[in-house]
Amino acid sequence: MVYVYAFHEGNKDMRDLLGGKGANLAEMTNLGLPVPPGFTITTDACRAYLASGAEPAELAAEVDAHLIRLQDVMGRRLGAEADPLLVSVRSGAKFSMPGMMDTVLNVGLTDASVAGLAAQSGSDRFAWDSYRRLLAMFGRTVLGVPGERFDAALDAALAGALAGAPATARHGRGVAAENELGADDLEGLVTAYKKIILDATGQPFPQDPREQMTAAIHAVFESWNGERARLYRRAERIPDDLGTAVNIVAMVFGNLGESSGTGVAFTRDPGTGEPGVYGDYLPNAQGEDVVAGIRNTLPLAELATRDPASYRELLDVMKTLEGHYRDLCDIEFTIERSKLWMLQTRVGKRTAAAAFRIAVQLVDEGVIDLDEAVRRVSGDQLAQLMFPRFDTSAAPEPLATGMNASPGAAVGAAVFDSARAVELAATGAPVILVRRETNPDDLAGMIAAKGILTSRGGKTSHAAVVARGMGRPCVCGAEQLDVDLAGARFTTPEGTSVAEGEEISVDGSSGAVYRGALPVAPSAVVDYFEGTTCFDGATGLEEATGLEEATGSGGGNPLVEAVHRIMTHADARRRLGARANADTPADAARARRFGAAGIGLCRTEHMFLGERRILLERVILADDDTSRAKALADLLPAQRGDFEQILAAMDGLPVTIRLLDPPLHEFLPDLTELSTRLAAARGRGERPGAADERLLAAVRRLHEANPMLGLRGVRLGLAVPGLFDLQVRAIAEAAAARLAAGGDPRPEIMVPLVADATELALVRARAETVLAKVAERTRADLHARIGTMIEVPRAALTAGAIAGEADFFSFGTNDLTQMTWAFSRDDVEGKFFSRYLELGVFAVSPFESLDVTGVGALVGTAVADGRAARPDLALGVCGEHGGDPASIRFFHRAGLDYVSCSPFRVPVARLEAARAALGVE
Ligand code: PEP
Ligand code: MG
Repeated sequence: MVYVYAFHEGNKDMRDLLGGKGANLAEMTNLGLPVPPGFTITTDACRAYLASGAEPAELAAEVDAHLIRLQDVMGRRLGAEADPLLVSVRSGAKFSMPGMMDTVLNVGLTDASVAGLAAQSGSDRFAWDSYRRLLAMFGRTVLGVPGERFDAALDAALAGALAGAPATARHGRGVAAENELGADDLEGLVTAYKKIILDATGQPFPQDPREQMTAAIHAVFESWNGERARLYRRAERIPDDLGTAVNIVAMVFGNLGESSGTGVAFTRDPGTGEPGVYGDYLPNAQGEDVVAGIRNTLPLAELATRDPASYRELLDVMKTLEGHYRDLCDIEFTIERSKLWMLQTRVGKRTAAAAFRIAVQLVDEGVIDLDEAVRRVSGDQLAQLMFPRFDTSAAPEPLATGMNASPGAAVGAAVFDSARAVELAATGAPVILVRRETNPDDLAGMIAAKGILTSRGGKTSHAAVVARGMGRPCVCGAEQLDVDLAGARFTTPEGTSVAEGEEISVDGSSGAVYRGALPVAPSAVVDYFEGTTCFDGATGLEEATGLEEATGSGGGNPLVEAVHRIMTHADARRRLGARANADTPADAARARRFGAAGIGLCRTEHMFLGERRILLERVILADDDTSRAKALADLLPAQRGDFEQILAAMDGLPVTIRLLDPPLHEFLPDLTELSTRLAAARGRGERPGAADERLLAAVRRLHEANPMLGLRGVRLGLAVPGLFDLQVRAIAEAAAARLAAGGDPRPEIMVPLVADATELALVRARAETVLAKVAERTRADLHARIGTMIEVPRAALTAGAIAGEADFFSFGTNDLTQMTWAFSRDDVEGKFFSRYLELGVFAVSPFESLDVTGVGALVGTAVADGRAARPDLALGVCGEHGGDPASIRFFHRAGLDYVSCSPFRVPVARLEAARAALGVE
């Protein structure tokens, strides 16, 4: 097996094997761009190492052979005393995991070669700076020495360096900046760092360059399973078994004085999607300084005056890359004494807004077509654009303004420590993580926080990149704030202090930070959807779009225009219809505005929440025909009125009304609570009323150990005489009233929890009788399709027989998941799911994203058997999965006709349905 590839041997399509970084370094090399020579160790080698705890036998020899070639090209030998070749050892997995795994720079430097490096570069300062960086990075990542020890030694050096400086040079500062340390200071640091390593590990820092390299390679392999990498993968749903590649690259130096530097750039603004070059540059620094946000960077445009030739070359390279990848690219580069080197490129992460805007820009530039534009945005991104933003119409005064690193509005209690953020968030409290800068150890806190605020670092700092990837609002580099981590507070220059626990509002779109909780307003994209209806290819319903009304003349808001163009195209391309789960007229109306082609699930029991609950309780508790008939008669007007309004809101579109499906415990008083209350009353010498006693007896009689598997759904309809009849009558009378009013009602009657065809046959026969009676009485031409939920595994397995009684199936994947996995949907998620996620039993909760292997197999069987029995059987889904992007794509592949989800998710469903039709898996 080949474990090592030289850069010229790979290409961008080899990400599985070479990781994203390695594959793209190879691609850039082959494009003739200035990439330092190097080679990539494959993910196969990493997987073998992680499986057995040792590197594959052939690896060392392969690395040696490539190292010899690299040395020949560079004309230097690794760590040679007089003129050492140094290399970086960089992680790089298939999917970008910024800062989550390890990288070691300057490998090969030793006590003996540091003088050679000084001579070769003509700079003592540079040589000692490179060595101390190697010691700290190697110490931390390879040898596991706590990073704070190196930080403390550095802080001491920074303080010491300024102590002797004249007052004018101190500018009132207590410490120097890193680039002000002299060669002597840095040599002193090297001595201190070596002692730290010796004390911590009992071993001196290894002086054999090849040994350093092997240890660094192993450390990078192992960092795949580091805690923060695992956490990140879980958050981003990246599989655990991919492993990372390792790139060995000849070092080029950005810390060789003022004509050198390092930077990160994007070919377009990844925050807003604005065209034009965009990035950060840090003179006289190495790459990790930019990402770590240690020093504040310069805008990339300043490079145009500092080093015009390199700047021009950089722009040319960026143009080449964008043309080649046909997308926004982000790059890392280094300038060594005015010579430009490319260290990395990839198709860049971007905010949701940027994704939409860039996709249509590329269409307008003729780079991609609209189909590709639809593939390049996601339902999750669209959902993010529908999040609220702050209402600043009252012109509140910000406490500070930093960089608008990741858009969105977040309100929460300021917290200054990652662990504390996790702890508080676990209690349900919204928190904002406030740090000077973040590093990968802060990941857990960033995931837990609603928003992130840092006082240092640019838009490409760790905080910014990670927050954007996660869709968390983030303001970074709010330099005015003095963040006191130990004292858990920050202070503005005016002396306003905000302590841990105090509420702040962070506006990642503008960069402003406010005290207290600012009011939030809906997004422009929501406003747009509110004012528009869509062309629904699935039902043939066509209506004009509302862009003109929504946004003034033709829009004017480039984001809204981008969303409009992509959604219009998506609607033309999708096959799946998008319906909504809606139980109220207001929800139905909103769903329609959001482009729903009808209602896929109207849960009638939801019409009996709040004050009306008692109506249903009376029906359930009635123990003789007379009281039941009376209780049912009381239900009728409420039901009929609701149905009439919902049918009006969805005039001309199907409305699937589900007959009652209340697990009894949701509608009856809690047995324990009720008996305790009555016992307490008795204890006080009071006599409970007869009604209470009757209630207690009835609740006892109906009490179930497993209410989710008890008297609910069709069972209730068959067990409580007259209940479903009453509901069907209410539906029929509402439809008749709509017809009389000139409307076009399209009710569908859906029976829940069916497990056997006979259950459905019984309900269907009764329903048809009731419909016919109402039709006769009202002389209305009443039609209602009658179908069933498929939410019990037995129903899926006997779908052929059930289809004989059904006009349609709607998959109730909430219950189907519950019953297939035997996971109580009310209990398990908060209990042991996090453990299951950790153990890799599943990568995402099966209640959130459909378990395609198990539950999906049942869906597949029911679709095949149902359609075989009845080719015109209509098929939909109305479980929560109907709004989940990955599940929607599965339902497309499974051949369903529509998905139904909450009104707010309807645009997401429309988009994902189109992406599925365009081949996105
Ligand atoms: C389902 O089970 O998926 C469903 C839609 O029904 P409910 O959530 O109301 O049980
Ligand atoms: Mg259900």
